[in-house]
Order: sequence, then structure tokens, then C-alpha cells
Amino acid sequence: MVALLDFMNALSSGAISVIDLTSPLSSETPILELPPDLGQTQRFELQEISRYDDRGPAWYWNNFRTGEHTGTHFDAPNHWVTGRDKDDIASVPVRRLIGPAAVLDFSAQVADDPDFLIEIDDVRAWEADHGPLPEGGWLLVRTGWDARTSQRDAINADGAGPHSPGMSAECARWVAEESPVVGLGVETVGTDAGAAHSFDPPFPCHSYLMGSDKYGLTQLRNLAQLPATGAVVIASPLPIVSGSGSPARVLALVQRQ
Ligand code: MN
Repeated sequence: MVALLDFMNALSSGAISVIDLTSPLSSETPILELPPDLGQTQRFELQEISRYDDRGPAWYWNNFRTGEHTGTHFDAPNHWVTGRDKDDIASVPVRRLIGPAAVLDFSAQVADDPDFLIEIDDVRAWEADHGPLPEGGWLLVRTGWDARTSQRDAINADGAGPHSPGMSAECARWVAEESPVVGLGVETVGTDAGAAHSFDPPFPCHSYLMGSDKYGLTQLRNLAQLPATGAVVIASPLPIVSGSGSPARVLALVQRQ
């Protein structure tokens, strides 16, 4: 098995580095906010069981409570009604959790316009420079939103609702139905734009990707450390039986140039 041995040697020598794309998971982790008449996701919470005390003299451990869609997390196809008969999070084939990354940087546009929407032409322009999106890969969108670590900054709402970047409905349909990637990864709390409740269809990234048996990854960070092409993403959601998603540790492997 020369390939695996070469890989381990490259990790040992530093020729390949491991970048953590995961946001820390705590009670401070920003979460989605839905209108008050709808069900709400829970913040991540730790409940201490014992900490080297009379509840357990030699050990420390916690229970935790969280929404499936909290922090850096993985959207399974059955998360959306369009994918209701497709895989739950435990059934996602593990082979599809590892794939090449295409990193598209829209941080300059988003700095000027927090409601910036990626269009098909933006992806086509990236492909003209870097080649086609990778088969079985992840389309990772850098927006600079990873710097917004508080609930208020991440949601960025005013009287008109949340303002955060995303993808047009047409582009979401194209990524889901015509591009070869298996998923879309973003720095925001959800794959859809803050204003996507009013798009046609509403929440098009969720609607089209889940309906096409594809995936979402959210609240990624450190995308600035990745090259436009050549990195490998490893996404590792928990196999929650019948679950619609899971907090995930997401890593990227990057070869030194
Ligand atoms: Mn989600």
C-alpha cells in the first residue's frame, strides 16, 4: 500500500498539513433564528456529570444538548422536504465525506454588500481561471463571515430581517442539478442567504441540494488558508440514526506548494 505510506510520510514531514475548518462548539456558538411561530433549534449546552469530585472522584465528563444544526454542521438530504425520502445523516455514504475542495473567495464583494448572492456566472468565472468544479468535491464559499463569531454579528438582522451572503436560486439549482460537486460549504450559519426566505423557491440551497441528494456544511472557518484547488476536505458528522444533520469536525488536507 504505497499510496497510504506516502501519505503518512507526507503528513509526518509536513509536506501535507491539516487545517481545521471547524468552529468551536460552545453555548456561545451562533445558531439559526426562525420566526417565533416556528420551532427553534437549541444552543449547544454542556451539563456536568462529575469533575473529580464526589459524583465521580477520578473522572470528568458531561452530557450535552444541542440542535443537530448547530455550529459547524452537516445537512443531510432528509433535512429538507425535497429530500425527505433520501438519506438520513447516518446513511450518508462515508466515501462521499471525503472529496476535493474548490474554494471560491467572495470576501471582497461581501465586505461591500452583506446580501451578496453568488450567480452562475461567478462560478463560471472561477472555472475559467481554475478549471471545472471537481467531481465528488465540495464547493467552499469564502465570504469573510467566519470573523462574525457572535450571534448578533452572524445573523446581522435589522427590521427587514437577516442580512448574510448566499447564492441565487438559479445558481443553487445549477450547483445541485448540473455541477459535479456533492456539497456546498459556507461560513454562515446556514447554506442559504439571510434573505432566502423570500426567494423562489424559498431557501433554494436547501431545497435544490437536499432534493438532489447533496449536502451542506456550515460555519466553516480558515478557508483563507486553503488554495483555490488541490485541498481535500474530510467532513465527519455523527451517525445519528434517522437524524437530519449533525455537528461535524471538518478538516482539510493541504499540500505545501
Ligand atoms: Mn443545517
